[in-house]
Amino acid sequence: MRLIDADKLYPDCMTKDGTLAISQSQIANAPTVESETTRLSLIDDIRQKQISADKAWLEGYEKAKREIPHGKWVELRSYDYKCSLCGNSMMDKWNYCPDCGAQMDLQGEE
Ligand SMILES: [Zn+2]
Repeated sequence: MRLIDADKLYPDCMTKDGTLAISQSQIANAPTVESETTRLSLIDDIRQKQISADKAWLEGYEKAKREIPHGKWVELRSYDYKCSLCGNSMMDKWNYCPDCGAQMDLQGEE
């Protein structure tokens, strides 16, 4: 079955006196619309691609989380801490080093 796009065909079939006249060749060459089944399968494809993209993003996120560097703040003196990984100096102990991104959750001597 071929579904004809009536909206596109209509202006070509309107005569000067306001009546409709359509030829066989106009029907044969009429623009078509996608069937509901095709449209639904396209929507399914898009949903599957979205699910795959979400899964890939989550895998990347989990991988990045596993690979996050860990460090600790080494107190040099009051209000002067040094990142154990990159040596960045801070006045306060943040949860993450703003310079190298290390999570500052290591304890004790390393
Ligand atoms: Zn650092």
